[in-house]
Amino acid sequence: MYADYKSFLEKEISDIKEAGLYKNERIIVSPQSSEIKINSGQTVLNFCANNYLGLANNPELIQAAKEALDSHGYGMASVRFICGTSDLHKKMEKAVAEFFGTEDTILYAACFDANGGVFEPLLTENDAIISDSLNHASIIDGVRLCKAQRFRYENANMEDLKKQLQAAQSCKFRLIVTDGVFSMDGNVAPLDKIYELANEYNAMVMVDESHSAGVVGKTGRGVTEHYNLKGKIEIITGTLGKAFGGAIGGFTTGKKEIIEMLRQRSRPYLFSNSIPPLVAAAGIKMIEMMTATTTLQDKLHKNTEYFMEKMSKVGFDIKPTASAICAVMLYDAKLAQDFASKLLEEGIYVTGFYYPVVPKGLARIRVQLSAAHEIKHLDKAVTAFEKVGRDLGVLK
Ligand SMILES: *Cc1c(COP(=O)(O)O)cnc(C)c1O
Repeated sequence: MYADYKSFLEKEISDIKEAGLYKNERIIVSPQSSEIKINSGQTVLNFCANNYLGLANNPELIQAAKEALDSHGYGMASVRFICGTSDLHKKMEKAVAEFFGTEDTILYAACFDANGGVFEPLLTENDAIISDSLNHASIIDGVRLCKAQRFRYENANMEDLKKQLQAAQSCKFRLIVTDGVFSMDGNVAPLDKIYELANEYNAMVMVDESHSAGVVGKTGRGVTEHYNLKGKIEIITGTLGKAFGGAIGGFTTGKKEIIEMLRQRSRPYLFSNSIPPLVAAAGIKMIEMMTATTTLQDKLHKNTEYFMEKMSKVGFDIKPTASAICAVMLYDAKLAQDFASKLLEEGIYVTGFYYPVVPKGLARIRVQLSAAHEIKHLDKAVTAFEKVGRDLGVLK
């Protein structure tokens, strides 16, 4: 059997390559940071990590993790409900709830699991999930696992959301679900309007703060802070793999009865291992740091503003945003690819995105800002963008 299957796979893979969609992994041999070393020996400035607050290599988090290794060991070797719950897990769950102004939190191995395990235990075929068309893959998969009726609205389109809510009025319970920040354009979901419509049409709201937690809002509490809705949203999911330290882990935080039910019925929680105590310990430290001062959040906001302003001034077409994602629009797929590889020659590591990741004709380079960047890094990036932009005829 395998001989046939092998040639089938070989053909599929070569099709992927021919379509220019094959993903090669670049190998990094230093810690994740603003400046990284890749295995070619080149040192480059990193503008494509989700390391928004620069915590992926933060000495205080590393210290907290090391101490927990000594006090709590390496792993739990159990799911939470058997013998996998340590005091650090409980403390971390409480810290996340305090940070977002919610009632309780449940931890997962990843936000992919949080989203994969949130719908099925809460909603039945009598209910409705009304989902933004650009929501993350893990939300899409989570919705697929649930029997609720599905309604989809165009990205951030409130007219369409209203229509879908009207169509879902005969259902028993309604849940609107949206990413807080959409990763391709960096646009922030209009949560204020979503919340209004939810009230008008008797629905609950879930927001995935993966790209917005630690980033959006004056103190980094995410889109619920940005729109003054702290504590009002029923369900928030998020990751510990982006601004919140960059290691691994996810969470759902919100109304306490919802969290209680997830602990009873959520399959990725019931049937998958606890996160290592050292990750919880570093997470507790991370929340402590972000609560004590907003130094990192402030620096990220300053860096983002600085970079966006310089890039617009130089003449690039930038999507406006309150996130730390800067989409530099190039429109043409080949151009985006060439642009990114020329930037790497200049020591700037960014990724070009093109169809099917973004719609045809909307290719771009996505720049992700970080509190780990210094002004000299940002200046170097803008200078490189300008040079490559002129070389490739994007700038006149
Ligand atoms: C990154 C991301 C996830 C997945 O998070 P992991 O913890 O890496 O699984 C889920 N949702 C959104 C919106 C994301 O951006």
